[in-house]
Amino acid sequence: MWLEGVSRMRSVDDDSRVLVIGSGPSGAMAALTLTQQGIPVTLLESGQHVPQGALVRAMGRTLYRKWPTFPKEWLQFVADDPPVMWQHGFVPGGMSNFWTGAVPRFAPEDFTEGERLHERYRWPISYEDLRPYYECVERLLLVSGCPRDLPTLPAADVAYPCALPPDWQRIAPAAEAIGHGFTPVPLAAGNPWMATRRGAPFNSFAVIIEQLRRKPGFELLLGAHALRLEWSGDKRRVTSVVYHDRATHSERRINAAAVVVAAGPLCSTKLLLDSACPDFPEGLGNTEGILGKYLHDHPQSWSVIELDRPLSRLGHTAYLTRAAYRDSDPLRATSCTLGNVTGLDRVLALLPTKTQRFGVVMFGTIVPLECNRVCLNAAEKDDFGLPKLDVQIRFDDAARRNTETALERLLAILDGAGIHAALQGEIYHKPPGAAVHYGGTVRMHESSAYGMLDGWNRLHAVPNVVVADASSFTTGAEKNPTLTAMALAARAAERLAADLKAS
Ligand SMILES: Cc1cc2nc3c(=O)[nH]c(=O)nc-3n(C[C@H](O)[C@H](O)[C@H](O)COP(=O)(O)OP(=O)(O)OC[C@H]3O[C@@H](n4cnc5c(N)ncnc54)[C@H](O)[C@@H]3O)c2cc1C
Repeated sequence: MWLEGVSRMRSVDDDSRVLVIGSGPSGAMAALTLTQQGIPVTLLESGQHVPQGALVRAMGRTLYRKWPTFPKEWLQFVADDPPVMWQHGFVPGGMSNFWTGAVPRFAPEDFTEGERLHERYRWPISYEDLRPYYECVERLLLVSGCPRDLPTLPAADVAYPCALPPDWQRIAPAAEAIGHGFTPVPLAAGNPWMATRRGAPFNSFAVIIEQLRRKPGFELLLGAHALRLEWSGDKRRVTSVVYHDRATHSERRINAAAVVVAAGPLCSTKLLLDSACPDFPEGLGNTEGILGKYLHDHPQSWSVIELDRPLSRLGHTAYLTRAAYRDSDPLRATSCTLGNVTGLDRVLALLPTKTQRFGVVMFGTIVPLECNRVCLNAAEKDDFGLPKLDVQIRFDDAARRNTETALERLLAILDGAGIHAALQGEIYHKPPGAAVHYGGTVRMHESSAYGMLDGWNRLHAVPNVVVADASSFTTGAEKNPTLTAMALAARAAERLAADLKAS
């Protein structure tokens, strides 16, 4: 068995533990699930200090928010022509320190529609496989939103049901008449009353990891940057992880029964590439040359529209769901989020005021292609002396057209509701990486010819290693990814715990 001896060893000091790498939403969810199942966990987090912000909410409205500073050096242009961004940094809680908290579920068709193009785009799991995990993650996130199913958007398990302002509600029937939903965006908005020293109501470190620290069997190592996973050819499994201890500037090794890699989509991929060894010279578990390929992201566009009459300012952003699957080319979809244009609008939205100008953010999809990829660049080194990551991705004309068409549909829907709206100025198309929604480079697929991971997020070739973040997505829907990444992490961790107990 790949987990021999596990049941005999239960102390966190021995190698029966599961190492979880990363304390962002995905890693936190995996650590929580494993701990709930009685499995000892050591969490390695590269970051050392929790950044501080401030948030005050009353009567379900955000009265004041100060985001933690996002350091300039975390926003890197990794290619210039055309530009490609990679925004990331090492901090407890990961990007959930800065996130907005939009958490739409993937719809059942999001797991299957890619099949219309090719079997390589078929997920090895269905919506029904993930549904119970969506529910348990949503309960943690304290979602505000609409509690009913809408076209192309399943209902969330909402803690705080909410509706659009009355003067916006006539838009929903016009949207539904042509297969869209129009609703408050499902948002991890937190408790209606709260005052906290973080910018986001849900931050995985504050909400999950800080609670876990009090539980027996859970150990947190901050400033522990995982450098590589070590494969034992004799035992046919990964037996340890080597990490850089930022406090002592030394390398340390820690043994494990299994490892959950949840370092964020591109850092997880890099860690597997950095873990190449004689049995896996192209990266851990990379038997078919898939690792790093099929990178996808959300083409993100932004525009301002002006209505022919004032409508209530939106304290909670409105969400136009994608077009019906039957009306769309496979893996071509866009959602639109409508909200305020300026900071002043956000303040005025606390009062019963109206405006004619609204901002629209569009998130589109791309078909994941092998040529969109990340790989190691031996010529340039990172802070740990390891090769840097090259990120190669382009948004083609179809991706741009896709977001522009969605805006045209939004204007048509408003028209159908008797509201004439026009685009003000131009549509700003942002470069890859702007959405901070990379995924797909350690993808799940039933066949190792098309994917690194099986249907339980385990490496096909190294089943005691689970990769549990958006790098595991087989395809990217137009929906924000974090809820689905967390649900996958919970499901994968539950299965890993069962495997460990059975061995
Ligand atoms: C401004 C902004 C707004 C956003 N809004 C939304 C939104 O509304 N909805 C949504 O779904 N998503 C949103 N996102 C994206 C969201 O934050 C990410 O999808 C989410 O945080 C990913 O979680 P993760 O745990 O997979 O990775 P991360 O949050 O990136 O966490 C990875 C963790 O791993 C650690 N780590 C990395 N490498 C190593 C290593 N080698 N060793 C040890 N530790 C390591 C990092 O320090 C980090 O703590 C937003 C992001 C930003 C920046």
